[in-house]
Amino acid sequence: MKPILIALGACALAGCAAEPAGVEVDRTPLHSRMLTLDTHLDTPLHFGREGWRFDARHNFAEDLSQVDIGRMREGALDGGFFTIYTEQGPLTAKGYADALAFARARSDLIDRTIAAYPKLIAPALTSADARRLDDEGKLIAFKSMENSYPLGEDLSLLAEFHAKGVRLAGPVHSADNQFADSATGKGKWGGLSPLGRDWVKEMNRLGIAIDASHASDAAFDQMLTLSKYPLILSHSSLRSAYDHPRNLDEGRLRQLAAKGGAMCISTIFLSEMNLTASRAELFGKYELIGTLSPDDQADLARRWRELDARETMWNADFEKFMAMLLRAIQVGGVDHVCVGADWDGGGGLDGIEDITALPKVTARLKAAGYSDADIEKIWSGNVLRILDRQKG
Ligand SMILES: [Zn+2]
Repeated sequence: MKPILIALGACALAGCAAEPAGVEVDRTPLHSRMLTLDTHLDTPLHFGREGWRFDARHNFAEDLSQVDIGRMREGALDGGFFTIYTEQGPLTAKGYADALAFARARSDLIDRTIAAYPKLIAPALTSADARRLDDEGKLIAFKSMENSYPLGEDLSLLAEFHAKGVRLAGPVHSADNQFADSATGKGKWGGLSPLGRDWVKEMNRLGIAIDASHASDAAFDQMLTLSKYPLILSHSSLRSAYDHPRNLDEGRLRQLAAKGGAMCISTIFLSEMNLTASRAELFGKYELIGTLSPDDQADLARRWRELDARETMWNADFEKFMAMLLRAIQVGGVDHVCVGADWDGGGGLDGIEDITALPKVTARLKAAGYSDADIEKIWSGNVLRILDRQKG
């Protein structure tokens, strides 16, 4: 958000005339003053919930959500990339058609939800849009796509999603698909498929930033080589913090940085995911929360709370998250790290349960000795720079 500047001319009345008249002093805390973005918000999953309002202030324990306009204000999160997430299904004509219908509907749902609060939040396509909205005191809604599965084998559909406002997209999710191997797949292609290589070219042509989170190491390497423009990892953790194929190793972070890209640090896979049968069942219901009645939503939240009291999904906390973030900055440099915690998609840890915890991240970065300018790069500057560089 824009700084609130207090003209000291008025200060004389309050007895603070020691400061020279006319000098403006910034009295807003650093975190609120910066433009802050999160690159991967699964919040659209909640947008269709009966009885749930995006402009309200909810709480995770009561309704399992981590982002809303109330908490964006409280945690001074100015915006982010609201994602069209599509679950991986069969690589068949029917599978593709169903996924496309789903992704189109999800995109429309994002548009309708953002459009419902024009005084509070608005869509953004460029860094200039983001800065203008911030100046106007509005929140910023970029749109992204997690999993390009809905495109089927028709790359011309990418232009449709570009026209719908998508400016960041990843080829794959948790299983290998028609474009690429997943970090958690079986390795069908040895990286990108031939169609996946064309996907990279079309992404570059349209100016949509490539999101390499969820891609296998080989797919990451090939996208880094083939893409004319820098990559983003919208929500990834470091493999040095926890050895898991979904995480990025430090060598690849250096290579990403050398080509101008950035890795947005997540709160997931800082430990093994404790996906017990009970958790898996609740997670399955959670992904469909937008279709549940208010009573069933409340029942799911109650069962989630009860399970949380018995077992946690991640064996990690805010301290571990901060240690990884600081390590990533050390390895990649302040120009190549950003934040994408995976809110509403499985993210959140003890001490960083939802976006209201974000000012603590800024305070820790400051305490670690980073300048205000460096911290703002991490919160938004790096991602906006990469968006600006997506066309020749
Ligand atoms: Zn994800």
